[in-house]
Amino acid sequence: MLLTDRLNDAQLLRDKAYINGGWVAAHEAAGFSVYNPATGAPLATVPDCAAEDTRAAIAAAEQALIVWRETPAPLRASLLRALHGLLLKHEEDLAQLITAEQGKPLAEALGEVRYAAAYVDWFAAEARRTYGDVIPAASADRRLLVVKQPIGVVATITPWNFPLAMLARKVAPALAAGCAVVSKPAEATPLSALALAELTSRAGFPAGVFNVLPTSSGDRVGGELTSNPVVRKLSFTGSTATGKLLLSQCAEGVKKVSLELGGNAPFIVFDDADLEAAVAGAVAVKFRNSGQTCICANRFIVHEKLYDEFAERLALAVNALSVGDGAEAGTDQGPLINAAAVRKVENQLEDAVASGAHVICGGARHERGGSFFQPTVLVNVRGDMRVAREETFGPVAPLLPFQSEAEAVELANQTQAGLAAYFYTADMARAWRVAEQLEYGMVGVNETAISSEAIPFGGIKESGLGREGSSYGIDEYLELKHICMGGLG
Ligand code: NAP
Repeated sequence: MLLTDRLNDAQLLRDKAYINGGWVAAHEAAGFSVYNPATGAPLATVPDCAAEDTRAAIAAAEQALIVWRETPAPLRASLLRALHGLLLKHEEDLAQLITAEQGKPLAEALGEVRYAAAYVDWFAAEARRTYGDVIPAASADRRLLVVKQPIGVVATITPWNFPLAMLARKVAPALAAGCAVVSKPAEATPLSALALAELTSRAGFPAGVFNVLPTSSGDRVGGELTSNPVVRKLSFTGSTATGKLLLSQCAEGVKKVSLELGGNAPFIVFDDADLEAAVAGAVAVKFRNSGQTCICANRFIVHEKLYDEFAERLALAVNALSVGDGAEAGTDQGPLINAAAVRKVENQLEDAVASGAHVICGGARHERGGSFFQPTVLVNVRGDMRVAREETFGPVAPLLPFQSEAEAVELANQTQAGLAAYFYTADMARAWRVAEQLEYGMVGVNETAISSEAIPFGGIKESGLGREGSSYGIDEYLELKHICMGGLG
């Protein structure tokens, strides 16, 4: 079935770049195909934008900014509320687009649309709360003020694993703050971003405040976004390697940078944990999106007393997961994004097994072929194996044993990543102690559903800079300005 036949509103499938409020081809007039990772079928051909298109989008944003930054906050808020309404009105279609280009099950895709919409709703409210300060002055003839102003033209670069939500949680605060945005979605998943552009147009956002550039050469668009002096801020979500590169590119122009990078989340099961809850949490946080989320548990650090029972129960639950096309009813796990992702998972598994780990469930490509992979549980894993040291980004749960609390915390912190961590315990004193000792930006205690628009999402160490969502998120798109009013005596 054609993707347009799955949509109630076929206009949400867009195959042009969105620049200055119009749908345009790329200057070099080349296009690239977007494929369904479950079937390999082509979904659309979109323009392959490069530096010249990027300059056009930046110029449009610069022009739009002149009016947008002066637009009263309640008006910006009302446009965001309209966008929120449209996202929910078209949630079924948007979920179809996400599943088609990204592969996740439809129910997860629908969850992603609502998650994205929640950020838009949240920042519609935050648009009105960018309060300043008045500081007590040391002399009577002065008044010391602090105001917050939009930083200017913002560039966003986002990954394929949450093609709508990762974009919405950057675009919503940027627009709320009064910034104009130029976005580069991932090559694999531009359709969700283009649908978001269509909805900003319907919501009534002025031309040029939001621009979307599909491309198969991220470095060409990224090179312009990070070197063009008009762009004052880059907000990036993706791998740590790309984040470091973009940070260095932004150094020349001293641009403000937010980075949401890779993780290597530990999941500790202490000997007093509620095992049933821990297994349910483990399945939810490891196998969602086929293990392709930045806050997926990457390593299970399990007390030796519970190790065998946890492994057995986890394998039982994982064996029950149904692998298939995300568009088919009953699918728990879709394909991985591409063949390279499958090879990475296989390489880590081969390394672990060669070093003494055992597969107790899954462990190979799925019989459906393509980039489908069996949900896998691995025991006898050590901290020095690649599967524990590197972010897997696939459906593999490696289990490492531990004896003492100190050892568990040490193992958990033994990484340069610092995004999310989880642990299960019934001891409240330990809950506080371990939560404070874990070197991570986000910690789930007896809970794995830790993300929402209300919390500051982000990592420490090499997992990133800055936070998204919450009352803190809009600050990433604002500059503080001090105004000293003198001669008042
Ligand atoms: P990636 O390869 O770094 O790609 C992310 C984005 O950067 C894509 O749009 C990509 O474009 C673009 N890109 C790559 N090289 C570029 C360059 N030289 N210049 C400009 N743009 C460039 O990461 P990924 O594999 O798609 O995403 C998975 C990673 O994202 C994982 O590490 C995951 O943990 C992380 N992630 C983090 C968070 C968080 O909030 N911390 C959330 C989600 C994902 P192309 O697609 O065209 O290559």
